[in-house]
Formats: sequence, structure tokens, C-alpha cells
Amino acid sequence: MKKAVAVLLSLLLVFSCAGLAFAQESKPGFGDYEHVFIIGVDGAGGAFGQVDTPNFDRIFADNAYTHNGKAEYLTISAQNWGSILTGVDYETHGFTNDSTGDISRSSDSPNNSIFYYARQAFPDARLVSFNHWSNINHGIIENDLGVKKINRLSDPLVTDAIVNEFQSGKAPKLMFVQLDDADHAAHTYGGFSDEYYAAVQTEDGYLGQIYDAIDAKGLMKDSLFILVADHGETAGGHGGQTPEESAVVVAVAGHSVNQTMLSEETRNRDVAAIALYALGIEQPEHFTCSVPEGLFGESREKTVAPNPAARTAKDIFLTVIYRMVNLLVGCFDFLAK
Ligand SMILES: [Zn+2]
Repeated sequence: MKKAVAVLLSLLLVFSCAGLAFAQESKPGFGDYEHVFIIGVDGAGGAFGQVDTPNFDRIFADNAYTHNGKAEYLTISAQNWGSILTGVDYETHGFTNDSTGDISRSSDSPNNSIFYYARQAFPDARLVSFNHWSNINHGIIENDLGVKKINRLSDPLVTDAIVNEFQSGKAPKLMFVQLDDADHAAHTYGGFSDEYYAAVQTEDGYLGQIYDAIDAKGLMKDSLFILVADHGETAGGHGGQTPEESAVVVAVAGHSVNQTMLSEETRNRDVAAIALYALGIEQPEHFTCSVPEGLFGESREKTVAPNPAARTAKDIFLTVIYRMVNLLVGCFDFLAK
């Protein structure tokens, strides 16, 4: 009898260990990343797939993406950045472009951002958010989490601030970035204008600069790099439900990301799920987003081609100017506190 019990117990142990191993195996990519970097390009919609974007191509070629993911309807900035950062639909979080001007949002507000969950999981981690459109830092990401927030008035200044962050040897656990110049071009010239498409190509250059700043510090070996848009554009603006406004890029690069085309059912708010999952944080139950099927698999070596853009004397001159402006603005920010 004793023998039978012992056999039964050993069998139970074997099955529970196998079960545990299976549970872990069935979640490839979970907690596999030390850092998550989310680059948001306002108004880019699916346009990275419609113009020449050499940086997008070299970064995501061996990874996962779609140019036809789904935006929130209404296709407006706050509604979508709100969902991308809180993992719920816009009716639930209720953010609008007006409401996000409010600078009092704190962690006891409903529908916390992914920064709240990252802070709970990693109390001492460096969390940063660099934005052109300051409403995201004011009214979506909570103001009491110790997130370093940088607002700058142009995309080149935002990009330089990020490059400076990495050159200074800092390695944020979670970084969110919002670039805004493509949306500005669409509002000024229309969403199907040459100026808009040129602006998307310029954003591709910033994407490459940010990626290279991260990679130069050796961080990409354990980082997840994500590109996402809030909405697309039409000739007359955005906010409606046309395919051009509703289709958005969702692109993910990392050592265990499969080379795959993501389903068109992928939503921009799935970025919230992907970010927490990669950092090993269980998804809060109220989230209505998910990690796209087939996104993660085996970890493997990946090679990313060098940045194809040759730096001209003008680029180098402008970089010095941007850095000087950022230093000055940084001093004013510091004194204003
Ligand atoms: Zn927008």
C-alpha cells in the first residue's frame, strides 16, 4: 500500500512539473525582455507601408508587423493614445484631446496606464516618456509615478532628447515616445499630400536614429522595440471611419519575435498587452487587448543593417543646434520646478 501511495505521489509530481513546464512553454516571450521601447508616430496610419522607409524595413524585416492594424473609432489622437497606453477601448477610458490637457491625472484615477503596472512591478526602474504632443504626458500617463517626462515642440528635439538619454548611458525599463510632425503635415496639406508622405519618410529617419541610439549601447539584445500609430489621415483630416483613417501600423522587433505578418485584427491598443507581457507583468483583468497570436517564438540571432542615411555636414550642424536647444530648455524645465 505504502508503495502504491509513493508511486502515485511521484506520478503526481511528474505531471505537475510537466504542467508547469508546459505553462511556461506555452507563453513564449513572457518576461523575456529587460526593456520595452514604444515609438508612436501620430497620424502615420498605414503610410509606412506606402512610401520608401528604409529604417522601418531594416528594423522590422526579420520581425512582425502589419500596416493594416485597427485604430480606435473615433480616430482621434487622445482616444487612441489613451487606448494604446491603458489597454482598454476609448469608451472605457474616455480621454479626449480636451480632457488630456489636464495635468492632475494620478495613479488613483481609473484605467491606469502601463506605466502604473511597470512601476508596481519594478519600483526602482527608470521609466520615461518623450512627447511632442504634451497632452499624453499631462493627461494620460499618471503624474505620481516618478516617470521622467520630456515635452518638446518638435520631432527633431524629441529625437535628440532620446538620443541624449541613451548616449548618457541610461537604459529605461519602459519608454514611450510620441512624434507628431506627420500629423501636422496632414493637417496643413492634407493626408494624401506629397508633404504628408515626405513627413512620414522623415519620421522613418527619426525611427532609425532612435533605434541606433539604443542599439549602440548594446541594449537591443534584450529589448523589445515597437512602432505604432494612433490613426491615419484623409484629405480632410481624421476622426472618421474610412480605411485610411482606421488602418494603423503595429510593428514589433525583438530577439524572440517571429518573422511574421501580424493579423489585421491586431489593434493599436494591443501594444499595452505586448509591453506588459514582454516585461513579465501579468495583464490586468480589465484590459481588452491581447498579445497577437504567433508574435513570439524561439529566441534567435538577428542582424539589422546599418542606417542607410548618410549624415551630411548640415545634419551634423543641426544636431549640435538641437542639443544646445535641448540643454537650454532642460535648464528652464529644471528651474521651473
Ligand atoms: Zn493623432
